[in-house]
Amino acid sequence: MTQIPAYAAHGPKTPLAPFPIERREPGPHDIAIDIAFCGICHSDLHQVRDEWGRSIFPMVPGHEIVGTVQATGGSVQRFRVGDGVGVGCFVDSCRHCESCRDGEEQFCAEGMTLTYNGYERDGKTPTYGGYSTRIVVNENYVLRLPDKLPRERAAPLLCAGITTYSPLRRHGAGPGRRVGVLGLGGLGHMAVKLAKAMGAHVTVLSHSAGKREGARMLGADHFLHTADADALKKHSGQFDLLLDTVSAAHDYNAALDLLRRDGTLVLVGVPPPSPLAAGSLIMKRRHLTGSLIGGIRETQEMLDFCAAHGVAADVEVIPIQKVNQAYDRMERGDVHYRFVIDLESLRQAFR
Ligand code: NAP
Ligand code: ZN
Ligand code: ZN
Repeated sequence: MTQIPAYAAHGPKTPLAPFPIERREPGPHDIAIDIAFCGICHSDLHQVRDEWGRSIFPMVPGHEIVGTVQATGGSVQRFRVGDGVGVGCFVDSCRHCESCRDGEEQFCAEGMTLTYNGYERDGKTPTYGGYSTRIVVNENYVLRLPDKLPRERAAPLLCAGITTYSPLRRHGAGPGRRVGVLGLGGLGHMAVKLAKAMGAHVTVLSHSAGKREGARMLGADHFLHTADADALKKHSGQFDLLLDTVSAAHDYNAALDLLRRDGTLVLVGVPPPSPLAAGSLIMKRRHLTGSLIGGIRETQEMLDFCAAHGVAADVEVIPIQKVNQAYDRMERGDVHYRFVIDLESLRQAFR
């Protein structure tokens, strides 16, 4: 075991603070990673504040991890010391259920091992995430980071990127398709960039009128302010695909009304429960579905797609000492469009 510095929340109402943790020595199939950057996902905030009711404290959040291979176990073939790598929302799974065999490990029948706020396969060792300087992960759950991608801008791809890439691909975002993105935050801004790179016509639907120009700069073709009832009415029945990334309770029926016949609304944001009327689906035979991050194979495909198309997150890099202010700003929607922690700030503080 090696002790390393990290930042943890000790309860839903306490700020994150320095907390030393232990990482295992790499086993034969493990990779030890020096963490360079870690993105701050709204799921970190939901879980630190215990908004989903299954938080384990102390909690070291962080599942948008990029770094460099620092050591490899004796049987590791695919990675070498010095390689640029990434780790996303899970670090293990049962490896034998149907979903694991299909490469959809996020739906593992025995439960994926979350990168943090979970337990290792032994069911008792807590997992700690990327707000730390080092992580040890089985090689099958490590992503290869294309050299072309700037590291701090690649970190958010490990969650925000794959969470939007996967449903956009599955539901055919591409030329001739009208795609709407609800909520222009970390996930939303990646959805805009990815859907544009796939060739779709993209509209941002935001409850923040002030995000119009930002949406245009990200490449969106159109912007709709969701408080503008007339504008929404005009666009009723127009979209093929809507990706809902909103983190707060809102009206799903209003979103469904924007879909054309057989159109699809994909929920990826995880707000508190919101009402749904059957008529919203029955009329125009609309589809409602959800999507959960993506498997390892698809996450690698997404990283390679981003490298090939020059897609990366727009980030504000912060030292870890500012993480609590970043949470407050994220809660107020004051982020453009992802906070990313530079872990050098943590290394230096403990040198
Ligand atoms: P974020 O950066 O905070 O963005 C959320 C966006 O939601 C905001 O930018 C805002 O966009 C909109 N919003 C916030 N409060 C709102 C309100 N009161 N009314 C209407 N819209 C509001 O969060 P994120 O990191 O993108 O995460 C978004 C959600 O996805 C979270 O619930 C997160 O837990 C979830 N998530 C799910 C998965 C998955 O696999 N399904 C993976 C990662 C994250 P506008 O100002 O443009 O309206
Ligand atoms: Zn996330
Ligand atoms: Zn499994």
